[in-house]
Amino acid sequence: LLDALIDQAALAIERVNLAEDVDRARLTAETERLRSALLTSISHDLRTPLASILGSATSLNSYGPMLDEAGRKELTATIQEEAERLNRFIANLLDMTRLESGAIRPRTGPVDLAEVVGSALERAGAILAGHRVEVDLAADLPMLDLDSVLFEQVLFNLLDNAAKYAPPGSRIDVRARREGERVRIEVQDEGDGIPPPDLERIFDKFYRVHAQDRQRAGTGLGLAICRGFVEAMGGTIAAGNRTDRAGAVFTLSLPAADPPRIEEEASP
Ligand code: ADP
Repeated sequence: LLDALIDQAALAIERVNLAEDVDRARLTAETERLRSALLTSISHDLRTPLASILGSATSLNSYGPMLDEAGRKELTATIQEEAERLNRFIANLLDMTRLESGAIRPRTGPVDLAEVVGSALERAGAILAGHRVEVDLAADLPMLDLDSVLFEQVLFNLLDNAAKYAPPGSRIDVRARREGERVRIEVQDEGDGIPPPDLERIFDKFYRVHAQDRQRAGTGLGLAICRGFVEAMGGTIAAGNRTDRAGAVFTLSLPAADPPRIEEEASP
């Protein structure tokens, strides 16, 4: 899987560069550099959780009988958490490559935002348990022209980040307003926010603001996937910081579905 992904990424880079008609030697060097940066990043993200799983499983095997119930539970919990982290990482990598290879084609149709928000919140239930989530959707929202599966993933990633980068017990707001033929959706939190020079870069693959973010469950792919999905559905997504207090705000603009045509009754 890893080799196929890396080859695919290298090929994509090569194609872009070729289109720009750059010098071949520079092209090879640049492709090699990106290929090895990608490999380092991916193998770190795979090996960190694997090392934890291996360590915990080995301890359990060697010392299991000597440990009390709580000690054993801690080790099995680590194994489960880290395996889930690996699972998420691989799912994200697959989403990303499917998107880039054109295998994901949004199937848009009229979608009720309240329903997708509801299902994203349900899916993120356990992650959001320690936070207060306030949902405020304007009463006059039109239906949206979206792929509900992809959009649920976008909302899930944003809620997951809000929970991850803001302290437990803090408030997360999901708001939506109509703006002409589009709908503006905001997801905001009460965390530390994002340093202004990073507001664009956080949408790059594998970019993470703080080195210590590596310790937090995450892949650096969530926002790249959000942007890819949103743009494929004709929308935009941008990051910002709150002005009223510390915290990040993610703002999306999405197209409303065509209003249903009202057949005029033929007058007799
Ligand atoms: P991940 O969360 O897996 O690292 P993302 O692509 O979702 O990857 O996010 C990239 C980076 O953007 C994060 O590592 C973090 O530094 C920053 N970030 C994302 N969401 C928030 C947020 N709500 N508050 C502060 N920083 C954030």
